[in-house]
Amino acid sequence: MSAAPLTDLDRLCIHTITTKSWDLETAAKKFSAAGVKGITVWRDTYAGRDVAATGRMLRDHDLAIVSTCRGGFFPGATAAERQTAIDDNRRAIAEAHELGAPLVVLVCGAVPGQPLADSRAQIADGISAVLDDCAATGVKLGIEPLHPMYADSRSAVNTLGQANDMCAQLDSPYVGVAADVYHLWWDPALEQEIARCGELGKLFSFHVCDWRSPTIDFLNDRGLMGEGCIDIRKIRGWVEATGFTGFNEVEVFSNRLWAMDQDDYLAQIIQAYRNHT
Ligand code: ZN
Repeated sequence: MSAAPLTDLDRLCIHTITTKSWDLETAAKKFSAAGVKGITVWRDTYAGRDVAATGRMLRDHDLAIVSTCRGGFFPGATAAERQTAIDDNRRAIAEAHELGAPLVVLVCGAVPGQPLADSRAQIADGISAVLDDCAATGVKLGIEPLHPMYADSRSAVNTLGQANDMCAQLDSPYVGVAADVYHLWWDPALEQEIARCGELGKLFSFHVCDWRSPTIDFLNDRGLMGEGCIDIRKIRGWVEATGFTGFNEVEVFSNRLWAMDQDDYLAQIIQAYRNHT
């Protein structure tokens, strides 16, 4: 491969799930020492804790709190299930506010066997139901379109085009998109939909990792940047052409990488970011 310039770490954010065996203090200390600038916090890491104090701890390590993961899962077979999801999203918004995170990422949800169009309508209804909470706190929501292999049970929003359409339909300053290369890299309309997302003012966050070939587990076999077939730099270029100046968030679920020594793994993440992001 040709020698591309190294990417500096100014906009490097890591999701806590990426190094999931580390508790939040450990992750904060190690990320900060390695020069990471931002952290996206998965909700399980602060469950049962003083959330405001947790936010202060992260900022004391000079980490920007980029977002929390995750809300969503709005579709349900019954009204009671859908209400439970709305209540959980209201909690997620309140927690993000307390933590000092500006954004909650949404894995929107789907119900196996339920028509996808019905699930999409329930997602739009669910988001609408929590917009007052967003307005009261200032916390925004990022619809994350998921790869279609998850359309049965994890998200009925599967392309950036659909996410853009939903943002346009909801027409709220609090609703935008979390674009993840893992979910979107295959889409022939990706370049134009990233541009459209930017024109709508809806590109809220950008997640990176890689698609391993072959992928041996559809959830927990993501690769580090450079280990797979995604042209991350090209996609990042499209993202930045919209004027996006946010973080590049490393979000990797990998049984293989979680089994490594996590200090060695963090060093690999930094190297993969410099060379391939
Ligand atoms: Zn993501």
